[in-house]
Amino acid sequence: MGKTVRLILGDQLNGFHSWFNTVSNENLYVMMEIRQETDYAHHHIQKVLAFFTAMRSFSNWLKEVGHNVIYLTLDDPKNTQSLTNNLDWIIKENGADKFEYQLPDEFRLDAQLEKYAKGLVIPYGFVDSEHFLTQRSDLKRFFYGKKTYLMESFYRHMRKNFDILMDGQNPTTGKWNYDAENRSKLPDTSLLRNHPDQSKSVDETYEMIATNGVATIGKLSEKGLNWPVTRKESIELLKFFCEELLPFFGKYQDAMHTDDPFLFHSKLSFALNVKLLHPLEVVQAVEEKWRNNPERYGIAQVEGFIRQVLGWREYMRGVYWAEMPDFSKLNYFAHKAPLPKYYWTGDTRMNCMSKAINQSLESAYAHHIQRLMITGNFALLAGIDPDEVDAWYLGIYIDAIEWVEITNTRGMSQYADGGIVGTKPYVSSANYIDKMSNYCSGCHYNKSKKFGEKACPFNSLYWSFYARNREKLENNPRIGFVYRTLDRMNDREKILAQADEYLANLEKL
Ligand code: FAD
Ligand code: SF4
Repeated sequence: MGKTVRLILGDQLNGFHSWFNTVSNENLYVMMEIRQETDYAHHHIQKVLAFFTAMRSFSNWLKEVGHNVIYLTLDDPKNTQSLTNNLDWIIKENGADKFEYQLPDEFRLDAQLEKYAKGLVIPYGFVDSEHFLTQRSDLKRFFYGKKTYLMESFYRHMRKNFDILMDGQNPTTGKWNYDAENRSKLPDTSLLRNHPDQSKSVDETYEMIATNGVATIGKLSEKGLNWPVTRKESIELLKFFCEELLPFFGKYQDAMHTDDPFLFHSKLSFALNVKLLHPLEVVQAVEEKWRNNPERYGIAQVEGFIRQVLGWREYMRGVYWAEMPDFSKLNYFAHKAPLPKYYWTGDTRMNCMSKAINQSLESAYAHHIQRLMITGNFALLAGIDPDEVDAWYLGIYIDAIEWVEITNTRGMSQYADGGIVGTKPYVSSANYIDKMSNYCSGCHYNKSKKFGEKACPFNSLYWSFYARNREKLENNPRIGFVYRTLDRMNDREKILAQADEYLANLEKL
């Protein structure tokens, strides 16, 4: 009887995939830790550890339920460190007469596997990863003939399609979107909850990564790796989120606080992105909480969360497949400044940046608004090359996989796509940062000053960004008012001179 080699990539840990419905000696599952994947970005140590630990647990589970598995650790002498070279010898050594893979989420791997499979002398096949709620091409088809991809209309379509928070064809509470109720500052720390400690020792894997010379960034706590790496741990985290954090999620979704990097965010992105959790089970668990107890949960909390998973997450994936590979080269503002070194060290006097970066180095995590309105905002205001911005986001975050990293970074955050994802650039001065956080009170800089000694860099850079890009932005109906204000400003020249000085000395901020 022939044998089929079936490849499982590190982010394809979906135990409910139909591949695993039958146990058969004819199938040989292959998983591998390879330098090709550890080295394509400068990853956070916790990210490499989380991938390897989750992959090892998944392969052990496959073996326990009776499947044949070859698992290559990074230090296995037979490991060539290349995906395709490993496949070559595994196919040969096992006399396989067919090769199969699940469609990858990344363009890079998709192209590599397609080329490899087409060059094989044995037949090959590929299947869906059975994770996403939409197909790769759905978004492009949905927006066919339209000038822009408007997330809100896609989101409404998803709500209807999956019957989430709906009464027939209408939103169940009469309103689609509670975004306006998702913008409160945290009043004090009394509402904060301790996120569950899922730390586990990963000493051996850590040692192996270090001994093999994989270059990583960031730190690992002495207690070990505090990310869910099994289905059981992922469900535990989902339950904790639904019980303890969901009642506050929407309201404080955009808030930032020095005492707690996670606030009421779920920390589920890693488990979702490696497919230990299915997006529909997450969305349905959240909706059920609200349906059973609308007083405790509140629609604004629940809708705010569902919009992220059912809306943004599927939307970004659709944009990725509609726009890649060209998307990865877009640079609308022709930005070319190098990324300041403090993105890698956290060593800056700007308190908001220092807190967001140091926290990312410590935990491989920052929540959405920290990524968008602190580090992303600064990079855009400072005119940093989007290639360097992308490389940083792709390396540092636990959940960073290109399909969702690049669309958020180059698209939403850097507006390098000229408006495919966002309708206007997400930039702000200190005013917004102070409104949403407690960062400014502990800062070397003065949040109220636009120029002069200790003037907050975000203030002058904000106005200089608009002044520099007038031609590209002035006709945007959502931005016109900014130029009217700029033109009326008495101190305009002083503010722009301050910005020039900061731009010439970015490393010193
Ligand atoms: P929660 O706030 O609890 O949200 C729940 C879930 O919603 C998340 O787990 C995630 O799956 C989904 N979600 C929320 N916002 C988005 C979004 N904008 N796009 C797609 N899914 C979303 N997310 C990643 O998964 N990987 C990335 O590499 C990534 N890079 C980002 C880069 C930038 C510049 C920005 C602005 C955002 C990025 N995001 C990325 C989106 C978002 O910041 C993270 O998904 C979120 O912070 C993960 O934390 P959480 O699980 O606690 O999220
Ligand atoms: Fe950030 Fe400016 Fe506030 Fe300092 S004053 S924390 S640099 S926004």
